[in-house]
Amino acid sequence: PDGGDGGRGGSIIAVVDEGMRTLMDFRYQRSYKAEPGEPGGAVLRSGKSGQDLIIRVPAGTLIRDKETGKIIADLTEKGDRHVIAKGGKGGRGNTHFKSSVKRTPTYAEQGTYGGEREVILELKMLADVGLLGFPNVGKSTLLSMTTKAKPKIANYHFTTITPNLGVVEVIKGNSFVLADIPGLIEGASEGVGLGHDFLRHVERTRVLIHVVDVSGFEGRDPIEDFDIINNELSQYSTELEGRIQVVAANKTDLLYDREPVDRFVSEIESRGYKVFEISAATGEGVEPLMQYVTEVLETVELPVLYTEDDLFDEGADQLNIEEIEYHMDEEVYVVDGMTIERLVYSTDFNDIDSLRRFQEILRKRGVIEKLREMGVQDGDTVRIIDFEFEFYN
Ligand code: GDP
Ligand code: MG
Repeated sequence: PDGGDGGRGGSIIAVVDEGMRTLMDFRYQRSYKAEPGEPGGAVLRSGKSGQDLIIRVPAGTLIRDKETGKIIADLTEKGDRHVIAKGGKGGRGNTHFKSSVKRTPTYAEQGTYGGEREVILELKMLADVGLLGFPNVGKSTLLSMTTKAKPKIANYHFTTITPNLGVVEVIKGNSFVLADIPGLIEGASEGVGLGHDFLRHVERTRVLIHVVDVSGFEGRDPIEDFDIINNELSQYSTELEGRIQVVAANKTDLLYDREPVDRFVSEIESRGYKVFEISAATGEGVEPLMQYVTEVLETVELPVLYTEDDLFDEGADQLNIEEIEYHMDEEVYVVDGMTIERLVYSTDFNDIDSLRRFQEILRKRGVIEKLREMGVQDGDTVRIIDFEFEFYN
């Protein structure tokens, strides 16, 4: 016997790519398959292992198990990686099965099936500070004013879909990442429009700059705007509701009457917020705002996004896989489950030794005993995956 081992199958591995900002690529390709291992050959030649498939994801990607929704991995930093699905093991060549009594084993082990998994990728942006506020209030303008980011600035009620990030450095050596995120619209917490994308992104920020247009130019009431947005936030999560908000009363360069602004400032300050009057267009008041935000950031911890309970328990999953299921399909005794499936596919039913090994494992695993408990009699049919057997004691 000189049959070499089969090669291991490639795994599917998610890796953070710093250059990526969105999960857009995954809109077009949804299914990924790593390379299979190659078969072993004669003269103990091992088969080549399959190449791992690397899937690039942006920093801030959460990987969830589709079925349970639990978090499998949280990839936040450059180089972070996680094996989403592990390649199968190559089968051992027939040399492994020789013994003093069995000098020429006629069978080799089949390889095991690789892992297969459905996951959900969710991007939670990694910004320290998020800009919050209705469309058109001046968020993009403020971002471009304070950073080198070149966001789309437009005088219409649409918002950019991809978040824009920029680095703000008003205190030398003490910078932070500011994000302008796809806009929050009324009804967002019920999943209307871009709402949920937005809310998901703000979850990771430590401080929010709530931008309000106080110019009255568009005929809006700034206090009402402020309340609507906060309502949306609190409906989404109580945790977000408590996130520190610094308020930027914007477009003060357009004011012809101070009364509405004074009313806004005193009302919002009376609720305990710090308010800065600014003009993102002229830059007036922007520096003190950003200075204050830099200082506040020093005092705030990273938000807790999830607890132990939200995490996917790989150990528990393992147990599930090991579990063997039994049921009756009319007169037929059915044995099911991953372990059994693997066993069946690694057995060569035309080979008496392989078959013996199969039976031995069934016995060790308590399958035979369980079938007896279920009342199986000689001559009854047992179905294991897609093979049917007649049962004989
Ligand atoms: P966003 O939707 O919140 O990102 O708002 P934008 O930054 O795109 O601004 C919407 C419009 O308001 C643009 O035409 C800006 O030029 C204008 N704008 C923003 N900030 C100011 C400001 O402080 N003063 C004035 N006069 N216009 C502003
Ligand atoms: Mg904008």
